[in-house]
Amino acid sequence: RVELRAVTKAFGRQCLFDDVNFGAVAGEVVAVCGKSGSGKSTLLRTINRIESVDAGDIRIDGESVLHGSIDLANLRSRVGMVLQSAPLFSHLSAVENIAMPLRRVRGLSRREAVERAEDALDEVGLAQRAVALPHTLSGGERQRVAVARSMALEPSVLLLDEPTSALDWHLRDEVGALIRSVADKGVTVFMVTHDCDFADRVADRVAVLSRAALHEVSRCDCSGAALLRRVRDLICCDAP
Ligand code: ATP
Ligand code: MG
Repeated sequence: RVELRAVTKAFGRQCLFDDVNFGAVAGEVVAVCGKSGSGKSTLLRTINRIESVDAGDIRIDGESVLHGSIDLANLRSRVGMVLQSAPLFSHLSAVENIAMPLRRVRGLSRREAVERAEDALDEVGLAQRAVALPHTLSGGERQRVAVARSMALEPSVLLLDEPTSALDWHLRDEVGALIRSVADKGVTVFMVTHDCDFADRVADRVAVLSRAALHEVSRCDCSGAALLRRVRDLICCDAP
């Protein structure tokens, strides 16, 4: 469960969030859309405290992440994050990419880590690509390895930054189905994307970050094309 309470953040004179309140419960996929530069990536980074906030509180499973005494390593092992370009270690095979953090973060033996990594790859349908190096994988396959790497650490929250960047429609569907299956395991999925269509198809709830405020677009009031229009209108009014 993720809760943002009255979160405020500025870089110099540029205010990115002004008193933002938002939340997501276990098993839910929420999407935050917004135009480039609106602060989507920064919002994600505040959740696992890579970035600070100026005011407000952020809670993961009821515990404030801003509290000085929180164990950051522990927080980040509970909050998985897949970055915008899903970077993998280029010199490591798919299975080693997943096994390495299991050894470093979870302290598993090499054998245990590889076994768990193989299971994680199997879950994302890539068991047969275990020994492939990242440059020999497609964009969608790399994205799935990156999600599998985060999921192998059994986080309660998964943060996804632009999970569809550089993917064609077929691969987007593949990654969308994977995101839904992650949420079905009880993980809270918080994704940011400029791809409103993908957000509408995959997320339970959609919000738009515009002019430092987060506007949730109610699924009760509108859906499908009407929801997309509403999301796009909100993004368009975000003039510089
Ligand atoms: P995109 O869709 O292009 O990924 P975004 O919505 O993710 O954009 P952010 O990366 O969060 O946007 O950046 C929001 C704004 O904050 C941008 O104007 C950016 O230049 C600025 N910004 C980001 N990080 C910093 C920083 N560390 N110091 C100063 N300004 C920053
Ligand atoms: Mg970004």
